[in-house]
Amino acid sequence: MYDAVHKGNGVFEVHTIKGAFLFMNILLFRPKAKASFSFIGEDAFAFFKRKKGDFMMKKTVPEYFGSLVFDDRVMRAMLSADVYASLKKTIDEGAKLDLSVANAVAIAMKDWAVANGATHYTHWFQPLTGITAEKHDSFITPAPNGSVIMEFSGKELIKGEPDASSFPSGGLRATFEARGYTAWDPTSCAFIKGKTLCIPTAFCSYGGEALDKKTPLLRSMQALNKQALRILHLFGNDTVKCIRTAVGPEQEYFLIDKEMYEKRKDLCFTGRTLFGAKPPKGQELDDHYFGVIKPRVTAYMEDLNEELWKLGILAKTEHNEVAPAQHELAPIYSTTNVATDHNQLTMEIMQKVAAKHGLVCLLHEKPFAGVNGSGKHNNWSISTDQGVNLLSPGDTPYENAQFLLFLCAVIKAVDDYQDLLRVSVATAGNDHRLGANEAPPAIVSIFLGDELNDILEAIEKDEPYNGAEKTQMKLGVKVLPRFNRDTTDRNRTSPFAFTGNKFEFRMVGSSDSISCANIMLNTAVAESLKIFADELEQAGEFETALHALIQKTIKDHKRIIFNGNGYDDAWIEEAEARGLSNYRTTPDCIPHVLDQKNVDILTGHKVFTYAEIRSRYEITLENYSKTVIIEANTMVDMAKNEIIPAVEAYALELAKTAAAKKALDAGLACKYETDLVKKLSDLTDRMAEAADALEEALLGLDEAADIAEEANMVRDTVLVKMCELRLACDEAETVTAKKYWPFPTYGDLLFSVK
Ligand code: ADP
Ligand code: MG
Repeated sequence: MYDAVHKGNGVFEVHTIKGAFLFMNILLFRPKAKASFSFIGEDAFAFFKRKKGDFMMKKTVPEYFGSLVFDDRVMRAMLSADVYASLKKTIDEGAKLDLSVANAVAIAMKDWAVANGATHYTHWFQPLTGITAEKHDSFITPAPNGSVIMEFSGKELIKGEPDASSFPSGGLRATFEARGYTAWDPTSCAFIKGKTLCIPTAFCSYGGEALDKKTPLLRSMQALNKQALRILHLFGNDTVKCIRTAVGPEQEYFLIDKEMYEKRKDLCFTGRTLFGAKPPKGQELDDHYFGVIKPRVTAYMEDLNEELWKLGILAKTEHNEVAPAQHELAPIYSTTNVATDHNQLTMEIMQKVAAKHGLVCLLHEKPFAGVNGSGKHNNWSISTDQGVNLLSPGDTPYENAQFLLFLCAVIKAVDDYQDLLRVSVATAGNDHRLGANEAPPAIVSIFLGDELNDILEAIEKDEPYNGAEKTQMKLGVKVLPRFNRDTTDRNRTSPFAFTGNKFEFRMVGSSDSISCANIMLNTAVAESLKIFADELEQAGEFETALHALIQKTIKDHKRIIFNGNGYDDAWIEEAEARGLSNYRTTPDCIPHVLDQKNVDILTGHKVFTYAEIRSRYEITLENYSKTVIIEANTMVDMAKNEIIPAVEAYALELAKTAAAKKALDAGLACKYETDLVKKLSDLTDRMAEAADALEEALLGLDEAADIAEEANMVRDTVLVKMCELRLACDEAETVTAKKYWPFPTYGDLLFSVK
C-alpha cells in the first residue's frame, strides 16, 4: 500500500499515518503548495486530527489570524464577483440585500464552516441580559437514501426565530407572544466557535421592538452619521460618504486560582467576594502595576491571544493592573458595533481560556473590597470613510475649526446628557466603583488638558491664545490657532478624558457590554450636531456664525470641563455648585432615563421607541435588585452555614484547651483562651443578629409598590444590613485560627497565582 497516491491535478489520497505526516509537512513548510488531500483510512485521518492542534500552533500569527472568521479574504475567494460586490454594498453602504445574494452567501459560509470543522450554525445575539445568546442548529438535512447532506439557506442566514419568552423584555413582550426574531448583521463577520458557525444578529420582538443591545447601537451610529454628514457638507466636504464611530475598549480583569474560587460560594454565585478581612498586603506598594507578569499568567495571556487572534480580534496590549491579581487587555480599536461584538467575545473567551489553565477570570467591577475594582475604558472617536479622524486637531487652521466644532459637540453632549451617560453604566456592580472613592467618580465631567483648555478659554474671552503660536482669536476661522495633537497630560481620575484624538469614557463597568455607553454617547453627540447644523445651515456668513457658535457653546457648557483631581472631596462640592449631577447609585440615576428631554432625544433620533426606553428602565432596576438580593441570600447562607459554625468550633477548641489546662493546674488563669472565647462568642451573637436583620430586610422588600421602590429599599436597607454582617464576619476572620476559617482568604486569593 502507498502512503499517498497522486490522483492528478495536485489531488492526493492519503492512506497511512506516514502519508498524513507528509501532508502536514507540506502544509507547514509550503503553505502555498497547490495540493489537496483526501483521507482514505481511519488511522490516517485520526492521526491528522490529533496532530492538527500542534500543527496549528506552529503557524505564525499572520498565518492564523482570523482563520476562524468569514472575513473579506474568504468572501472574496469564495463568492462570485457579482455576489461579492452586492454584499459589499450592503456592508459598506447599508444597501438592501437580495435573497439570491443571501442564498449564495449562505452556501459559501456553510462550505467554509464545514471545511473548518463546523457542524452547526447559530444566530449569535446580545439580549438585554448583557451577555450573548446562541441556539444551535445543525446543517444536516436528510437525503432520500437515508444519508444526510449539509445545507444552509439564505433564509436561514437572514432570519431566525428563537423563542424569546425567557429573555428579559421589560414588558415589551407578553409570554404568550413568545416569538422573537434575529436578523443577520452583515457588518459584523460570521465566525466559528467550537463546532458552530456564529452569525452576528440583531434581536427583536414579534412587534418589532429591539430586545437587544445591538439594534439601538446600530441606530445610534446611523443617527450620528446623518448629523455629522450635514456638518461636513457645511465645511465643503462633498465627497465624504459616511462617518463611523470607533471604539477601543480596554478590559480589566482579575485572575484567581480555580480551586480556591470553587471553595467560595460568594464568588461562585455572585462573581465577587462578600466577605474577607483586609490582607496584610494590598496594593499599597504599587508593585503590581506594569509589574513583571508571572509565568502562569503569561501562559494564560499567550493562549488567550491566540484564541482571540484566530477570531480576528485585534488583541494588542496586556499588562498587570494596579491591584494584585488584576490585569488589562486592550485591543486595537475598530468600528463600534464590531468592537462591541469583539468585546463580548473577548469576555467569553477570557473565561474559557482561564478554565483551561486552572484559573478563573473575574470580570466583576468590584471582586475585592479594599483594592481597585475593574472598569472598561471606552476609547471613542469619530472618523470619515476617508480616514479622517474628526477628533484629531489636524495640521491646518481650517481643520482646527472643524475639529473645534466637533469638540464642542462632544462637550455640549456630555453636559446636556450627563445623566444619560451615568445611566448607561449603571449596575449594582459598578456602583461599588462610581461614587465610592474610587476611579472614576459618579459625577460626569470632561478633562481636556491644559493646551485645549487654554485655547477654549481664549476663544471664549476673545483673547489672544498665547500657546505655541500667538494668534488673535476673534477674527474667525482662518486665524484659529494651530496646535499639536497628543499634547494632553494624562489624568487618571476623569470620567471622560480627551486623549489627543479620542475621548476615553472611563465609567463603563468591566463586566458590562459597551453598547449602552456608546448608544448614549452617539445619540447625545448626534443631538449636538443636529442643533449645530440647524443653526449653521440657516446662517448668513458661515465663518462668522461658526465662530459665534463655538464661542457660545464654550460659554454655555464650560461647567462640565474639569481638569483637576476627580477623587477630591472638594470637587464634589464644586460640582454641586456648578449644577452637575451626582448620582451615586443605580436607583438614583435610572429614573432619569424617563426624563422628558432624554426621551425626546432617544426617540427623536429613532434610537429607541418610548416602549423600548421603558423596558430598559424596568430591566436595569430589576437587575439591580435581583443582583443585590442574590448577594444578600448568599451572605446569609455563608454566615449561617459556614462562618458561624467555624467560629463556634474554634471557640469550642479554645474552651476545651482552657478546661484541659485547668484540669492540670486549677490555678491557671487561661486568660488568653477565656478572653478570646468571650470575644468570639460576642462576635457570633453579632453575626447571627446581623444575618437575621438582613433576612428581615429581604422580607421587607415584599412591601415595595413597584420596581423603583424595591430598588430604593434594596439600596437603603439590604445593602446597609449586608455591610453590617460583613463587618462582624470580617472581624471574626481576624481572630479565628486559619485552619478553622471555612474558605480561602483575601491573602490566598490575591497572591496565590504564581
Ligand atoms: P492607556 O491605557 O494608556 O489609555 P491603551 O493602549 O491601554 O492606553 O488603550 C488605548 C486604547 O485606545 C486602545 O484600545 C486603542 O486601540 C484605542 N485607540 C487608539 N486610538 C483610537 C481612536 N482614534 N479611536 C478609538 N480608539 C482608539
Ligand atoms: Mg490601558
